Amino acid sequence: MSDPSPQPRKIARVQPLTRTRAVRGPFDYRLGLDQEAVEVGSLLRIPFGRQRSLGVVVELADRSELAPERLAEPEAVLPGSIPPDLVELASWMAREYCSTPARALTLTLGPGTAEGARAKRALVAELTAAGAVALRDGATLTDGQRAVLQRLAAEGPGVAAELGTDRLRRLETRGLVGLELRVVRRRPVHHAVGVASAEPPPLTGAQQSALAPVLRAMGQRRSDRYLLHGVTGSGKTEVYLRAVETALAAGRCAIVLVPEIALTPQVLGRFEARFGDVVAVLHSGLSLGERHDEWARLRAGQARVCVGPRSAVFAPLRDIGLIVVDEEHESSYKHEGDPRYDARHVAMQRAQRHRAVLVFGSATPRPESMLAMPRLRLPERVDRRALPAVEVLDMRGHHQPLHPETRMALADVRRANGKAILLLNRRGWSNFLSCRACGEVWMCPNCEVALVLHRHGAFVACHHCGHREGVPARCNRCGSVSLARHGAGTERIEHELRAALGQEGFPIFRLDADSAGLERRAQTLKGFGAARSGVLVGTQMVAKGHDFPDVSLGVVLDADQTLRFPDFRAEERTFALVTQLAGRTGRGADGGRVLVQTLAPDARAIAFATRHDSDGFVADELTRRRALGYPPFASLIRVVCSAESEPLAQSTAAAIAAELAALADPVLGPAALFRLRGRARSQVVVKAADRAAAIEAVGAAVDKVAPGAARQGASVSVDVDPQ
Ligand code: ADP
Ligand code: ZN
Ligand code: ZN
Repeated sequence: MSDPSPQPRKIARVQPLTRTRAVRGPFDYRLGLDQEAVEVGSLLRIPFGRQRSLGVVVELADRSELAPERLAEPEAVLPGSIPPDLVELASWMAREYCSTPARALTLTLGPGTAEGARAKRALVAELTAAGAVALRDGATLTDGQRAVLQRLAAEGPGVAAELGTDRLRRLETRGLVGLELRVVRRRPVHHAVGVASAEPPPLTGAQQSALAPVLRAMGQRRSDRYLLHGVTGSGKTEVYLRAVETALAAGRCAIVLVPEIALTPQVLGRFEARFGDVVAVLHSGLSLGERHDEWARLRAGQARVCVGPRSAVFAPLRDIGLIVVDEEHESSYKHEGDPRYDARHVAMQRAQRHRAVLVFGSATPRPESMLAMPRLRLPERVDRRALPAVEVLDMRGHHQPLHPETRMALADVRRANGKAILLLNRRGWSNFLSCRACGEVWMCPNCEVALVLHRHGAFVACHHCGHREGVPARCNRCGSVSLARHGAGTERIEHELRAALGQEGFPIFRLDADSAGLERRAQTLKGFGAARSGVLVGTQMVAKGHDFPDVSLGVVLDADQTLRFPDFRAEERTFALVTQLAGRTGRGADGGRVLVQTLAPDARAIAFATRHDSDGFVADELTRRRALGYPPFASLIRVVCSAESEPLAQSTAAAIAAELAALADPVLGPAALFRLRGRARSQVVVKAADRAAAIEAVGAAVDKVAPGAARQGASVSVDVDPQ
């Protein structure tokens, strides 16, 4: 075949990063003569229709189906290219989660890339040879000048603005320092808790047995998966650290996923203490500049271990040898934006592509993981202390939020100057308000849910959409001024504890989504950790990650509350909550005790938790799930249609269901969901035996129905493996 153009130029297939579903791409662009270095993963600014867009090169080609004169040239090649394996991963994600390549690619971009974040340059001062001599030979220097030179000699180059630019300029004219504009790293000031010793302890026998197969697989470049199952304090993190060390020694990289950095500062602290600057951290608590720089360090290979929450699964690393998912049972690994990816599932894909070993760790592994992965067991705590006794307190017939037994136990803790954690998975003051005269319940105007009373600040709020209004003085319907408050939330428990126990030296801390931002939460945890005694009360956050060695009492209030959720994971959640709290109790000298207050004392999940029997629980749970066709025996795919009017939401869902009628799998719905943020919703759920086929069918159904629905004002979203 003859080529019509005398000098063939490379063609780049570019995916424009637009939000619209209708734009499919990729589109061909002709690279300019100075753009020959463009590769798969390169980031371009491209003319797109009448606008400009950011685009990622997904493929290079020698020819295009379009005539050369119809092809545009990219305007610029931008910094922040993505490694090619992430381009492939994004294309897999787009398919797997019925999303679009553009949306999936956007997740893999470096932080701030789309906003034009750049490396920071600053004037940097460095001691010259003449400066070193002057310092040694006692040249005439002012005290200030001497101090600056000494500091440069001791600490190396420093940012001029922080040392005094004027003084440095005078020293520069004498040839004693050099000043130069350089890229400086914005170092994250994060929540890592400093760890005294970085010296690794000798491993216990159980840790050695757990580590061995991981290292063997890594040595053979096999992408094996393992589940590291052990209670809190059994030494899982130490196993991760050793595995990371081996990956680094082999010249490879590692990713360590944690549920939330602010709640697990000790984990990050231990990685930094062990490996130093080769660790980069990515999380939303950092400034955009800091995240940009951490990402760039990973991309450049300066940092080779990335610790972070779910998005760290996209860390731009080459040759990954190990991916760890700590606390693998945590629901925060699921992303709620589009694509609704599950970082655990993405980690599997990424590990496979790198021939990396994947290690999931938990004290309460999901039944899915138990079934899918060989298990490495750490059967006891490193300090060999027994797990605390778990006692069930039957709340039927009790009308106070705290059982008398709980009150006594708390009083004991105060007398002994100890610490206790109280977990109640409901924030606010009380559950809902109703009128004593007519029974009217205060509802959110946007959502079909009751408003929750927050006494501090005197408002009622919707925990789904954020709607707030003042506390009502009288009933809207009948005018009665007699209002009843039902149930208790963390705010009320905090108040009651203060009244009953609070005193000098026995502080009460509260931790929940109301207690302000990440920073404040980290502070609260630090405060409780540092206090000699006291109580921490909060939502499930109190049972996560953070580790206090001196807590002797754990209490779960309303433990069956999570059981009342209409969700097949309700039992799993309840079991995990109680077990996680137990794992964090009684690590101190005098053992510990866990009290579980519940209206359902005989519930399966609670009974297994009192016996610390996760094997029994999972076996039982798997039997039930097999019978009902739930994961891991089928994949769930959920399509939610929403619209202002209920009939439109319903008919859109019905159209989706009709498109799926040919599937062999059960298709449930359309079923109405409660109104959320002012929109009526209806869902269709597929229980898929053949995951790939069902995902493809759902994707096709959405592509067919969504455009027409959108014109009428209905939107369609797909959730594969919903939480
Ligand atoms: P997990 O991650 O399962 O909660 P960790 O790895 O954090 O367990 O270990 C719990 C505590 O025991 C930590 O303080 C850790 O430093 C210590 N530890 C872990 N492994 C050993 C060991 N082999 N010898 C002594 N102390 C250890
Ligand atoms: Zn009323
Ligand atoms: Zn609402």
